[in-house]
Amino acid sequence: MTAPLVPFLVAALACGNAVLAAETPAHHADGGFRNPFSDAVQGGVGNFLRVVRMRFFSDAWSTYDADRDRVPLATPVPASDESANATVTWVGHATVLIQHQGINVLTDPMFSERASPLSFAGPKRITRPALTLGDLPPVDVVVISHNHYDHLDAASVRALGDGPVYYVPLGLRRWFERLGIDSARIVEMDWWDGRDHASGERSFRVTATPSQHFSGRSLTDRNATLWASWSLAWDDFQVWFGGDTGYNDRQFREIGERLGEIDLGIIPIGAYEPRFFMRSVHVNPEEAVRIHRDIGATASMAIHWGAFILSAEGVLTPTHALAAARTEAGIAESEFAAFAVGETRRYPAGR
Ligand code: ZN
Ligand code: ZN
Repeated sequence: MTAPLVPFLVAALACGNAVLAAETPAHHADGGFRNPFSDAVQGGVGNFLRVVRMRFFSDAWSTYDADRDRVPLATPVPASDESANATVTWVGHATVLIQHQGINVLTDPMFSERASPLSFAGPKRITRPALTLGDLPPVDVVVISHNHYDHLDAASVRALGDGPVYYVPLGLRRWFERLGIDSARIVEMDWWDGRDHASGERSFRVTATPSQHFSGRSLTDRNATLWASWSLAWDDFQVWFGGDTGYNDRQFREIGERLGEIDLGIIPIGAYEPRFFMRSVHVNPEEAVRIHRDIGATASMAIHWGAFILSAEGVLTPTHALAAARTEAGIAESEFAAFAVGETRRYPAGR
């Protein structure tokens, strides 16, 4: 190779790499996905032992018997017609029924007794889902945040069948197809992919948005599929479903800037202790309030507590901490509500 050619080739290679780097999103990694704003790695034997330790030597365990019956419960009142308001029912954990303009959306449907690959072991519900699968109105759309067992449940999806269209993060199509769901009913999306979903005369827009989390249902599929939050945008009402997420000061601000006005944020507040271990993947209530502010939500509701014991904080601690975080931030209960399990609230649409 002649000398003048060498710098030229080096420059060409460097240029090629730069083009490649620009084309590969920061959350895409070899064989899977990663968090662009957190280096923490979940999983492994060490973390498994930490989970076991915190499960049995924690507030969650010592207050379990006293508090499991104190989780507030309410009777759901789903919408039976097309009112001018959006109707939102907390079924339990991350399962929320959102009804607006005659379109029914269900988030992370989880109706089973255990959030586990095993039917006889693993986190067991302390509160029942407020609606059974049979109680649900026809579900037009299901959005899935990620494939952890407390968010993606085979029995629930099997029961919903080909009724809804499933909007899922990258890599999850195959799981649904294996379960027997019609591939035409599955829409796989990367962050910021969006699609108008038509249901009869009506339509609304579904957009996958970022979150900071991880995925995996076995020991060999760590971060092989993507995690996401979701925007559900009608012409006069926008909901943002946070799914399961840790906090950083980039992604939620970006979501607020790009989505425009968010009428209702659905934000997790539970499964956050011990912090050294959970911080990167689960927000605490104080960080949940920060997300509420970062996305610029008019109102928010709390999820991801009161159903499964997944962490070390006490059963009721997330709502107490949310109340303290609200006081600290100077916001009213109605602005970031801790629903009772089963509670239905209506939010005005038509801005
Ligand atoms: Zn998760
Ligand atoms: Zn979760």
